[in-house]
Amino acid sequence: MPSSRDRLHLYVLASGSKGNCSIVAGPGGLVMIDDGLSRREVLSRMEACGLRPHDVRALVLTHEHGDHTGGIAVWHRAFPVELFASEGSTELRRALRELPFNHFAPGETLELAGMRVDTFSTSHDIANPVGFRFSCDGDAIGYATDTGIMTAAMRSGLRGARIIALEANHDVPMLACGPYPRYLQDRIRSDRGHLSNEQAASAAAEVVGERTEHLIAMHISQENNRPSLAVRAIAGTLGAELDDELGSTATLERSGGLPSLHIRAAGQNRPVAIL
Ligand SMILES: [Zn+2]
Ligand SMILES: [Zn+2]
Repeated sequence: MPSSRDRLHLYVLASGSKGNCSIVAGPGGLVMIDDGLSRREVLSRMEACGLRPHDVRALVLTHEHGDHTGGIAVWHRAFPVELFASEGSTELRRALRELPFNHFAPGETLELAGMRVDTFSTSHDIANPVGFRFSCDGDAIGYATDTGIMTAAMRSGLRGARIIALEANHDVPMLACGPYPRYLQDRIRSDRGHLSNEQAASAAAEVVGERTEHLIAMHISQENNRPSLAVRAIAGTLGAELDDELGSTATLERSGGLPSLHIRAAGQNRPVAIL
C-alpha cells in the first residue's frame, strides 16, 4: 500500500483498446477500475507500482466492452473481490453474467475502501456506460473514458477533481487518413463513440479547476493518435507549456500559491502512477 494515506492515488496499469485497468488507492484499500488484462499482466504491473493484489477491495466497471472486462473472470477466481457494475451492463457477455456483480443505477453513489464513489453516465455504444468520481477528505479523482461526448453528468463528475483521467482517443485527421474502414471511423466519431483530442481539450477546459494538479489523457488509439498530439491539444487549450520538444508532458504554472497542473498521457504498455 502507498505510504501516504492523506491523498488518493491513481495507478493506470493500462489504457487503450488492447486492454484497460486502473487502480485507485484509498484509505481502506484499493479499488480496481475495469480489467481487460491477463491476471499475470495485472500482477506484474501492480508489483511495479508497489501494489499488493490482496489489498484490492472491489472492482468497478465502466462498461462491458472486452478491452475493459476480458480479465475479470480469471482475476475474480484468484481474488474474489466485490464486483460493481451499472444495471444491465453485464447482460451481454456470459462470462460477466455468471459473476456475482452488484448493480447500481448510473448516478448512484457507492462507498468503497473508505471512499465515496459517485457514478455518472457517459455516452458509448453499450448499455449504461459510466465514469466515476472517487473522493475522500476533500481530495478527488475523476475518471471518464469511452465516451463520444462529454455528458452533463460527466461534467459535474469530473469538475475540479485534483486528478482527472479523461479520454483523448483519436486525432481527427489521423483517423480520417488511417487504416480503419469507414463504418468504424463513423462509430468512433459518433456521439456514442470516443472523444477526439479536440473534444478532450475542450472538455478539459470545462472541468479542470484551479486546484486540479493532474490531467491524464486516456485510451489513446495506437493507430489513430499519438500521446504527444493528445498532450499538445490539451496543453494548447489550457495554456500549458510543453515540458520538452517531444511534447509528451506539459505543465501549467499557476500564481498565487495555487498548485501547477501536469498534463501527461497514459499508455497501453507501461503503468503510470499519479500520486
Ligand atoms: Zn475501451
Ligand atoms: Zn468501449
